[in-house]
Amino acid sequence: MSNLAISLAEGLFGVLQGELRVGGVLVSALTKEYGTPCFVYDRSVMDRKLDALRAALPPRFTVCYSVKANPNSAILRHFLTRGCGLEIASSGEFCQAIQAGCPPERTLFAGPGKTEAELEFVLSRNVGEIHVESLVEAGRIVAISRRLGVRAKVAIRVNPIGEAEGGAMRMGGRSAPFGVDEEILGQVLDTLLAELFTGIETEPFFAGTQFLVEPGRFLVGEAGIYIARVNDIKISRGKKFLIVDGGMNHHLAASGNLGQTIKRNYPVALVNKLDMPAEEKVDVVGPLCTPLDTLARDISLPRAEIGDLIGIFQSGAYARSASPLGFLSHPPPPEIWVDNGTHILIRARGEFSDALRDPSLEFTTT
Ligand SMILES: *Cc1c(COP(=O)(O)O)cnc(C)c1O
Repeated sequence: MSNLAISLAEGLFGVLQGELRVGGVLVSALTKEYGTPCFVYDRSVMDRKLDALRAALPPRFTVCYSVKANPNSAILRHFLTRGCGLEIASSGEFCQAIQAGCPPERTLFAGPGKTEAELEFVLSRNVGEIHVESLVEAGRIVAISRRLGVRAKVAIRVNPIGEAEGGAMRMGGRSAPFGVDEEILGQVLDTLLAELFTGIETEPFFAGTQFLVEPGRFLVGEAGIYIARVNDIKISRGKKFLIVDGGMNHHLAASGNLGQTIKRNYPVALVNKLDMPAEEKVDVVGPLCTPLDTLARDISLPRAEIGDLIGIFQSGAYARSASPLGFLSHPPPPEIWVDNGTHILIRARGEFSDALRDPSLEFTTT
């Protein structure tokens, strides 16, 4: 088991007689009630992360939770209750935010390639702020705002000249579809100044400036665990494989196929044998008929038996929602919210996404 998995189990969650507890509930109680594979989320971990972030920032900062990290409406509602806004990157996420009870003014819309239809959809529904990602987009926002007679609030996403260091997914420096190159910032400002900034000159410079951060994985990543059950164990030419009942179809990132430069294992443990020593090196694989479906390679675990539970930690962000749920047609896994001894199902097995229940929020292009 990875040391990180053990320290997360003990430090963030809790262990009772070798078994993982999430929010005070034994993982075997959760899997008995909801089955495997599943995602479980601990409310208190999300709160600890948000508290830590707020403590590190000056009070003038607003935290806007980035919906794409995990769009489950229970999670959106939780961060709204805690005073956050929501950062959205599509009209679909706008609808998810509104349905979770987010006032439209508390959304901010980022992301490249926003279509005219999407811009009109959110501008006519009072979107909080749009992050302008190109010159073309600036022009579209101006035209649509004029036509609708609304005053759009915009921020310009700048792609800086200086190159950003580190990180597997660089979004700045170099050529990028994200944001406006610093070199043409002046042009974009000129475009926007022609309607939108009228009246701003009466405000003392920066007096009304708002600061905000848009974290996703920091807030929810560590709060989630993917749990799967060992369904078969086989040795092929000297190598041992634990075949579990869910795989890359539910957790693409753990299989290393979601933009990793170096394939590293997620923190993985046998969550019903946390007190037992690692004894054997295995590969943990899912049930899909492709060699891509490997959840952990050459990982040291206690001796596993059929029925044991594998836990993949750090699975609250970019896990279920960033996975090819339809691939191989297994039912999408359920999501369970655990809060200090209580637990509820927040997405049933087989459900792909939150159904759009409010027809006025159905986004269609014509
Ligand atoms: C994805 C995204 C975020 C959140 O990124 P994390 O790595 O999850 O914190 C914030 N802002 C924008 C514009 C994004 O696209």
